[in-house]
Amino acid sequence: YVMSSGSYDYFQFVQQWPPTNCILRTKCSKPRPLQNFTIHGLWPSNYSNPKMPSNCIGSRFNFTKVSPRLRSKLKISWPDVESGNDTKFWEGEWNKHGTCSERTLNQMQYFQRSHEMWNFHNITEILRNASIVPHATHTWKYSDIVSPIQTAIKRTPLLRCKPRPKSQTKSQPKSQAMSQLLHEVVLCFDYDALVIIDCNRTAGCWNNVDILFP
Ligand code: 5GP
Ligand code: 5GP
Repeated sequence: YVMSSGSYDYFQFVQQWPPTNCILRTKCSKPRPLQNFTIHGLWPSNYSNPKMPSNCIGSRFNFTKVSPRLRSKLKISWPDVESGNDTKFWEGEWNKHGTCSERTLNQMQYFQRSHEMWNFHNITEILRNASIVPHATHTWKYSDIVSPIQTAIKRTPLLRCKPRPKSQTKSQPKSQAMSQLLHEVVLCFDYDALVIIDCNRTAGCWNNVDILFP
């Protein structure tokens, strides 16, 4: 991978929908996936160079920089939903993304701030209040899902989707076979990771393809 020098313009706070991980990966840490959005990561981001910066030359992950009190909170808000190794997951996210964030957040602050964002912006609840709840077959338009979030946070989020695995689409009616899985909801924050801002609609879900919220 490329070691990036790590300039960034803003942060993407990425929450994921665990049932989608469980469909995509054969591996899933729980018999029944969690039914609430959990943290994937806090990514310093760049308007001119998507997917950057990452893997910066910064301090390596150090478990002791996260207090036991915060660690127990992160087990709820930021679990490893794939293999169940939470610390490993935090380490990977810190080394890939946190190392590039240090001009704004040190290690303790990086995890603390992420947890606060999760606490403050409850996507699961926002969607539930708008009657957008997981369903095996019902599909939504991009705007159906974005609108209630936009109303609640007063800024535009970004939805990220994944294609449905082939095994899932074989015996489906065409309308559903043509759908994508809601995987992540991104909220964007300014350089200081404090003020919520509009996300650019860059990559994300495909236009004009219905969205399944499994
Ligand atoms: P995906 O293939 O799911 O789009 O992205 C894979 C990985 O690329 C993500 O988990 C994340 O680490 C990184 N990535 C994707 N988009 C962005 C972005 O806009 N900014 C940053 N910093 N990383 C990204
Ligand atoms: P991006 O590279 O930051 O962070 O993340 C992409 C990677 O994150 C993918 O390889 C994906 O498997 C992983 N990922 C997403 N959710 C989880 C999780 O709950 N646990 C682990 N270990 N990896 C995850």
